[in-house]
Amino acid sequence: MNKEEYRKKLNQLGKRKDLISGVHNYCDRWCERCPFTSKCGSFALSEGFNDDQESKDIENEKFWDDLKIVFEVTLEMLKEQAEELGIDLDNLDDVDYKHEVVENDTVKMSKDYGIAILDWIKDNNKEINNLGKRLLLINENEVLKFQDAVEVIQWYSLFISAKIHRAFMDYGIDDEDNYDNLGSAKIALIAIDRSIAALGYLLENMPSFEDDILNFLAKLSKIKKYVLTSFPTAMEFKRPGFDD
Ligand code: SF4
Repeated sequence: MNKEEYRKKLNQLGKRKDLISGVHNYCDRWCERCPFTSKCGSFALSEGFNDDQESKDIENEKFWDDLKIVFEVTLEMLKEQAEELGIDLDNLDDVDYKHEVVENDTVKMSKDYGIAILDWIKDNNKEINNLGKRLLLINENEVLKFQDAVEVIQWYSLFISAKIHRAFMDYGIDDEDNYDNLGSAKIALIAIDRSIAALGYLLENMPSFEDDILNFLAKLSKIKKYVLTSFPTAMEFKRPGFDD
C-alpha cells in the first residue's frame, strides 16, 4: 500500500458507521480469534499492511517501509487538522508531560512471570512437543486443547505485564479520569484468568512438571489479587463491543 492509498483508507474508515468506537482499546490484540474484526477500525487499518510475512517481520525492510507510510500520513493529517483549527504546531507552549514509568511490585511480578513462563516453554519445548504427539495417538481433540493451552499461555505472557503497567500509569492523579486505567486492569485480569485456565490444563496433562506449573499458578493468583486490590472496580468496566 502506498501513501495515497493509506490516506484514502483512513478517510473512508472515518466515515464508516458500522465500526465500534474504541473496540480495540481493551481487547487482547488476538485478531485471529476476535469476533469483532469486521467492526474494528484498527483491524481494518492494518489490512493491506500485514497481509504477507515480510510486513510482519521486524527484520525486513518492508516492515519499516509500511511503518514510515503510517507515520508520514498520520503527521500530514495531524498538521492539516491543526491548521483548520488555527493551531500552529511549530509554536506550541512547552508542555512538561512525561509518561510515568511504573515500577511497583505488581508490575515487577507480572514482568517476571512473563519472562519466566516463556523461558520455561522454551526450555521444555521437547517435552511439550512429545506430549502433543502422545495426545494425538489418544484423541485428536485433546491435542488441539493442549496446543491451544500452550498458545494462550504464550500469547498472554508479556501482554499481562504491559496492561498492568498501563493500568498503573497516572492512576489516581485525576480520579474522574481513571477510565483507561480500569479498562487496562480489566483486560489484564481477563488475560490472567485465561492463563490460569490454560496452565490448569497443562497441570492435568504434565504431572512431571507439577512443581513448576503450580509455581506459575501461584504467581498468577498473587498478581490477580494485587491487581484487584489496586483496581477493585475493574471488572465492572464496560469494554466497547466486548461488554455491550
Ligand atoms: S478488537 Fe479484535 S480485531 Fe480489533 S485489534 Fe482487538 S483483537 Fe484485533
